[in-house]
Formats: sequence, structure tokens, C-alpha cells
Amino acid sequence: MRCPFCGNMETQVKDSRPSEDGAAIRRRRSCPECGGRFTTFERVQLRDLVIVKRSGRRTPFDRTKLDRSIAVAVRKRPIDQERIDRMVSGIVRQLESLGETDISSETVGDLVMKALRSLDVVAYVRYASVYRDFQETSDFARFLGDEGLSDDGANDEIDDPHVIKRGLGEQDLSSTDDA
Ligand SMILES: [Zn+2]
Repeated sequence: MRCPFCGNMETQVKDSRPSEDGAAIRRRRSCPECGGRFTTFERVQLRDLVIVKRSGRRTPFDRTKLDRSIAVAVRKRPIDQERIDRMVSGIVRQLESLGETDISSETVGDLVMKALRSLDVVAYVRYASVYRDFQETSDFARFLGDEGLSDDGANDEIDDPHVIKRGLGEQDLSSTDDA
């Protein structure tokens, strides 16, 4: 590790211990060249994060999957790709800053919901309908009511949750009373 004071490449580790919360390794270093002392922290990187699904199944976090699920929710909505990318980056940073290696899929879903809510209400409702797994049209109506969305025109573009699910292509509809 290069000395931040004089640029010398040969610095020495004097002490190495976990931080209080155990999320990082703290190393005290010193530079034999200038006598400078500094501290470095070693943390888990995003590529090491693991998503734990409701079933208990564990999969490595994959930003591409997050991008894809959000792309489906915002499809054909008038939103700049740049804003969407910024939103996803914000979600990823929040996941990183949790300081945990294991992250529940609910945590990811909640962060996506919160971010979409401020980005685009139709995309938000689309995502929510799949994420919360609405089974009945009444579930959907209740959700819109709770969110104060019943009268603002969002309904016109959203239709029935089963239609949304089919459009999203992410749910097995065989068990629903779709006929
Ligand atoms: Zn130095």
C-alpha cells in the first residue's frame, strides 16, 4: 500500500484487527521512509454479496438481473435511460452500505419499490404487482387505494394485475383463475 504522505510503495502493517461491527478489517500502517502513519479498511466488495431468497436459496448478487427486472417495469415509459441507470446505481450503493454479506430479496425489493415510487408511478405499480404477488383484482385496487393512486390516472395504463403479470412474463400464471 502506497504511503499517502510521501508516495513510498513500501509501507508496513503494524496492526490488523476487525472493526467493531466486524464488517471490515482495520490495518494500522507506517511508512519507514517518512515515518507517516495511516489506517486502511478492508471491506466486502459488492461481487461478494449474496441474495437470500424467501425460499432460503442463495445466489450471488448480479446487477444485470436487477437491471433486467427494472427494465421490465419501466418498459415504454417516458424515462431517460440515464435516470434509470442512476437509480440502479443508487440501489447498488445502498446495498453495499448495509455492511452485510447476506441480503434478503425482500430488502432488494423494498429498495427498488422506494426508488421506483419517486421515479415513475406506473413503473412502481407494475413492479409492486409482481413483487407483492397480487392474486386478485381487489388486492390491486386496495394497493392503489392505500397508495393514494386510485384517481390520478395510473389505473388507465395499468389494467388488471393478471395482465401485468403476463406482460412482465415473470410469474407462472397456471395456478391463477385466469380463464
Ligand atoms: Zn511515507
